[in-house]
Amino acid sequence: MHPAPPTKFQLRCQSCQNLAPDPRASACAQCGGLLLAEYAAPNLTPTNATQRGMWRYHTLLPVSDVANAVTLGEGNTPLVRSQRLAAHLGLNALYFKLEGSNPTGSYKDRIAAVGMTRMKELGVTGWAATSSGNAGAALAAYGARAGIAGMLFTLETAPRAKLTQILAHGPRVVAVQGLGRDPAIERGTFAAVRQLCERKGWLMQITAHRFSPIGMEGAKTIAYEIAEGLGHAPSAVYVPTGGGGLLSAIARGFADWAACGQIVQQPRMVCVQSLGCDPIAQAWQGGHEVRPIATCNARISGIQLTAPPDGDLALGLVRATQGWAASVPDAETYTAQKMLAHFEGIFVEPAAAIGLAAVIRDLAAKKLHPDDEIVCICTGSGFKDSAAAQALSEGVEIPVVALEALSREP
Ligand SMILES: [Zn+2]
Repeated sequence: MHPAPPTKFQLRCQSCQNLAPDPRASACAQCGGLLLAEYAAPNLTPTNATQRGMWRYHTLLPVSDVANAVTLGEGNTPLVRSQRLAAHLGLNALYFKLEGSNPTGSYKDRIAAVGMTRMKELGVTGWAATSSGNAGAALAAYGARAGIAGMLFTLETAPRAKLTQILAHGPRVVAVQGLGRDPAIERGTFAAVRQLCERKGWLMQITAHRFSPIGMEGAKTIAYEIAEGLGHAPSAVYVPTGGGGLLSAIARGFADWAACGQIVQQPRMVCVQSLGCDPIAQAWQGGHEVRPIATCNARISGIQLTAPPDGDLALGLVRATQGWAASVPDAETYTAQKMLAHFEGIFVEPAAAIGLAAVIRDLAAKKLHPDDEIVCICTGSGFKDSAAAQALSEGVEIPVVALEALSREP
């Protein structure tokens, strides 16, 4: 075996097409454009069958040597075929990709694993990011694993359970007033993170291609696992969408798989947002570019972004795959969360159920055919948002029964 050449991958600007000479670059130094990783010799065939999880695909991950992997066993999450809900809805093939099974309970682990591995390879000593919780927990855990310090800027409204999980790993956490509700504060916070990283020689790990093109490559492995698990691409993939990074990564992953002849057709990408915080869906419906919205009027944690950093990237991929975008009222998302728990035994946070809520809407609107093969990305575990989890059983009382009275229980 020859050692991997140093030019295994490079970052290319999507605006001016120049290659970024600095391996630590987060945006194009010449025009400020978005950078995406590209590989000198793409090879999608998993080379080590004994490896489980996403590092099986290391030939398509932007790290020099897989031996450096900062890993907690991320990836290889279940792709569960729906039984009762599919029958109830009249769908023949409905699947749920359970990303809550990752080590810290969300798909963000895939991103943090790649981001921390690359920082280790480059000798970077710290990270900074914004997060409403799931990315923060992933970065905190993988940062601890790598011995890399971190600082996290979060929302005042971030669920306490998510913050508790983050703080357990030791990074500094600051809540920014108005973050998640105001596009000017969102952009200002991103700029503050960038400045902090420049001052300290750290790397931004905000989970968007706009800021962290290396780490985001990790989320492409979701597509590889779905395509490998099914043996082909599904008809459509429903993705909970806030900033647009996850949808973009999954679409790019299927494109890789198609480019290497592993699948013939790419799935339609369906961008699902909360009604009240849906700038990408508005742009899709209006046929224009993504414009920041004035404020967020939705309560679903994890997808509250008024100025989505990867919005245009995601919108372009929705259009390129003949997909579409949907806006779902919060009440329908909570109902879908309950349905997953009651009918499938799947316990997720509300954001992870928004894809199912959109499937139900699209079936009613006859946008889907009973024979369409649908995959919903269930982004995070139900343990992530304890207040929302408690609401699932609100009003249910647990009777206390004496032992001698148990036989009379129905
Ligand atoms: Zn450029």
